[in-house]
Amino acid sequence: MSYEYERIATPKVGLRLHLNENTAGCSPKVIAALQSLTRQQAAEYPDYDAAVEATANRLGVSADELLLTNGLDEGLLAVSIVALRSHASYPEAIVVVPAFDMYAACADAVGGRVIEVPLNADFSFPLAAVQRAITPDTRLIFLTSPNNPTGLCIPRENVLDLARSAPNAIVLVDEAYADFAGESLLDEREARVARSMPNLLIGRTFAKAYGLAGLRAGALIGSPETLAAIRRVVPPYSLNICATVALVAGLQDLEYYNWYLAQVRASKALLYEALDRRQIQYWPSSANFVLARFGEQATEVVEGLKARDVFVRDKSRDPACPGCLRITTGVVEHTRTLLGALEEIL
Ligand SMILES: *Cc1c(COP(=O)(O)O)cnc(C)c1O
Repeated sequence: MSYEYERIATPKVGLRLHLNENTAGCSPKVIAALQSLTRQQAAEYPDYDAAVEATANRLGVSADELLLTNGLDEGLLAVSIVALRSHASYPEAIVVVPAFDMYAACADAVGGRVIEVPLNADFSFPLAAVQRAITPDTRLIFLTSPNNPTGLCIPRENVLDLARSAPNAIVLVDEAYADFAGESLLDEREARVARSMPNLLIGRTFAKAYGLAGLRAGALIGSPETLAAIRRVVPPYSLNICATVALVAGLQDLEYYNWYLAQVRASKALLYEALDRRQIQYWPSSANFVLARFGEQATEVVEGLKARDVFVRDKSRDPACPGCLRITTGVVEHTRTLLGALEEIL
């Protein structure tokens, strides 16, 4: 079985609702910051102090609990290297499917064995099944909350239970979409418990809510000791100067950030209403996308949308979510375009 990450063909024109990007683009202040870069800055190796400070402040952690990475993808790879290079004969990584493809791609690439555990039939989190899948060779457990592609959050108690059940494994909670959920293991109430667990790592990205996917900025958060091992496998200048200034400017523009979160909420409400009207099953999402089951019609819908220059993610052939499409819900005007096209097709 190949776990190689498959890049999704990217259309030159049209409405991109297939990669959960920020459909409004980044904050204009990010572009202003990029334009103010000097020739000297381009010529010098980047200094991360300002970006680390701004990110740590925003996430409510200290600088030694934070590692900036070239997108969260690089963080996933770095954690895979550290967790799976251990001496177990064939170290195992548990992936709860359906899941973000990079987990299996990274674990497999560094020589780990991918152990897939399916979500429950209703897509709720299968705590007992994951616990049963833990073996002495388990070194890494990938969790995603809110999950991609279902949009559902994992109950925090389940995450903490798992971290306790697998003290020899790193439990990586990918919170790529936590901005939209309004809940995170970094919330004040949780942070103290999460901090007491050195095998728990949290992943964040600035690609989705902040619209910096093209600039590449992500972060890992965890105990200073665990992060120290991961710092050793990440190159010292892994973010470039554009990403660092973009991050500082993007984090400052709270007004834009909050405006976008509100657009996403309104877009989800519009899409739910349209799906309800047609009795199409969907899962109420804590993220910036919605998974909906179009069943037999899935391919026809994807093709019909494509013919109208609207791109959604076809998950219909994934045995873990048959007949399903994942649709990004960003700017309301874009969602209205999608709904108009859907109306014509159905
Ligand atoms: C988009 C996504 C990422 C990747 O984030 P980058 O910062 O762009 O590398 C990681 N995890 C999940 C679940 C995602 O959907």
